[in-house]
Amino acid sequence: MKATREDGLVERPAKTLDKALAWFRRDLRINDQPALHHALRAARQVWCVFVYDRAILDALLARGLRADRRVEFLHASLAELHLQLHDLAARHGVQDAGLIVRHAAAVDEIPRLAQALQVQAVYASHDDDPYALARDARVRGRLADHGIALHTGKDHVVFERSEVLTLSGKPYSVYTPYKNAWLKKFDAGVLPAHLVEPHADALAALPPASIAGAMPGLAELGFEPTNLHELRLGIGSRGARAQLDDFLERIDAYEDTRNFPAVKGPSYLSVHLRFGTLSVRELARLAHARMQGPGGRGAEVWLSELIWRDFYHQVLHHYPHVVSASFKSEYDRIRWEHGPQAEANFQAWCDGRTGYPLVDAAMAQINQTGYMHNRLRMVVASFLVKDLGVSWQRGEQYFADRLNDFDLAANNGGWQWAASSGCDAQPYFRIFNPVSQSVKFDPQGKFIRRYLPQLEALPDAALHAPWLARPIDLSAAGLVLGRDYPLPVVDHAEARERTLARYAVVKAASAET
Ligand code: FAD
Repeated sequence: MKATREDGLVERPAKTLDKALAWFRRDLRINDQPALHHALRAARQVWCVFVYDRAILDALLARGLRADRRVEFLHASLAELHLQLHDLAARHGVQDAGLIVRHAAAVDEIPRLAQALQVQAVYASHDDDPYALARDARVRGRLADHGIALHTGKDHVVFERSEVLTLSGKPYSVYTPYKNAWLKKFDAGVLPAHLVEPHADALAALPPASIAGAMPGLAELGFEPTNLHELRLGIGSRGARAQLDDFLERIDAYEDTRNFPAVKGPSYLSVHLRFGTLSVRELARLAHARMQGPGGRGAEVWLSELIWRDFYHQVLHHYPHVVSASFKSEYDRIRWEHGPQAEANFQAWCDGRTGYPLVDAAMAQINQTGYMHNRLRMVVASFLVKDLGVSWQRGEQYFADRLNDFDLAANNGGWQWAASSGCDAQPYFRIFNPVSQSVKFDPQGKFIRRYLPQLEALPDAALHAPWLARPIDLSAAGLVLGRDYPLPVVDHAEARERTLARYAVVKAASAET
């Protein structure tokens, strides 16, 4: 008799299978790794595979993203994972184990490999992005044609899908009650640990090259190296661990520092959460334990960010229409700016040439590093949608192409929050002032100066709105506006009025209902 676990995977009596395959996707680690844990417990021989899915990579290449930090991060992290699996197996007396890495359409490759290895089951962690769900459904069907099972279970979030519902069994659409229910469930202690080490003797030696192939290089995948290794971004689970250790030294100060982009306040762990080089359960447990102690407020606030992440994932699960439309349908009535001026403004935003230093420095940060501070994501998103009148979907796509930590649920949630169209979003009449945000969150202009060196010599007071600077300050800084740095592409006060008028259709629609 099978028992269904809390995490959705099926627990079987130990070793009922001869052979199994653990399919790694967004869970690139060997600690607390549910898919690998369950495969090792179930089968006498387990192989591990990662597929660079052509359906995803070819779409990046088609959009001209040949130099993509995510692919390079993956490439380096997979090399590390291969060694970790190899060493883990060796410690348990199994030689020549490791990670099979393929470059193919996953829908074809997983069934092919499963058959070639004659496994009885494939184990993987849930990926709830719409593309991944459709892919997994096809893989499941093809495997079933050959009598092979696909077992999938939770890993990417702490609580998924319908695990946290209202008392009437409905999904939450407001964050705070969701968070309270989430914490209550967490306190009840329902997070099993998925240990791998005790079962590692079931790891199998790599199959012959005719089956496993060779690990493809970046160039073979069609990609070029980026500046990834110049960034202070740990790679793989070892890099993640180092970054986590660094953050744990600072976590108590998180609440006070997290809003200031020039300060090392946040954890910078988002890329690791995206690729699963760290376990989110481990992070939640750490934060939860820390928040009970003295100075625990920082950990408490940080844990609530992890809960936002779960919140947006359950929004995507219950309301998949958000991928292509507003969560609140009346917001789809909004008429965005079109035409050459709107295009020029959008391009200025992408390139960091809006004339608003905080916005431009933030866009330089994402363009140069693939990361953007959370405060700045809110500021630039608001600026695009509510100052330039450009649809949130265009900003969402720009971020999706560039963020190292791109995550469909969080990115969509963030953009719809900024555009006010989302689940528990900010009200439409709340429009960030890019100058006051700059004064408040980068008061000495340290962040701006880091990314806009041409403004270096301007006095702090003039840095946030150079077009208002005294001519004497501009000339002392050797700065000619329009030549060395752009004049503002819009006047914020006028743009604000236009936005309120544009969003009036929403008010009218709400009044109708
Ligand atoms: P920390 O402050 O250390 O937070 C810890 C973790 O909590 C993060 O790593 C992240 O996993 C999670 N988190 C924090 N804030 C949020 C949030 N508002 N929503 C969901 N999860 C959160 N986050 C992504 O991971 N991927 C995205 O594609 C993404 N796009 C965004 C787009 C917009 C317009 C906005 C406003 C926010 C977006 N965020 C996204 C959320 C947030 O900006 C990043 O998670 C955070 O900046 C990552 O830095 P960190 O790891 O140092 O965060």
